[in-house]
Amino acid sequence: MSRPFDAAGGTSGDSPDTPCLHCGTSVPESTLDRWNWCKACRTDLERRVRRGQRVIAGLVTLPFLVWILVRGTGSVLPLYAWALPLLAAWYLGSRIGRVVVLNYLRSQRGD
Ligand SMILES: [Zn+2]
Repeated sequence: MSRPFDAAGGTSGDSPDTPCLHCGTSVPESTLDRWNWCKACRTDLERRVRRGQRVIAGLVTLPFLVWILVRGTGSVLPLYAWALPLLAAWYLGSRIGRVVVLNYLRSQRGD
């Protein structure tokens, strides 16, 4: 799995100040990630991504949950057995949401 928040790395010696691509603040080049975002911007981005991915996971899981509760499961399985597919829906919604929100926010310019 890729680790998008690792510093770009590989630059040896002194690192001149480089503007962050998002907020424009000049920081040492070695602290920028591979999208040239500074640490403060990455921290903020991570917080917004976590919030966004929970929303998307909820949007994926909630209709499924309502369907199970309202329509019933037709006694195919006991109700508690549906916790696993619900968890899977939450997990996948969260993973998909992370990619979608991260790419969306990365494409946005700073204020
Ligand atoms: Zn920044």
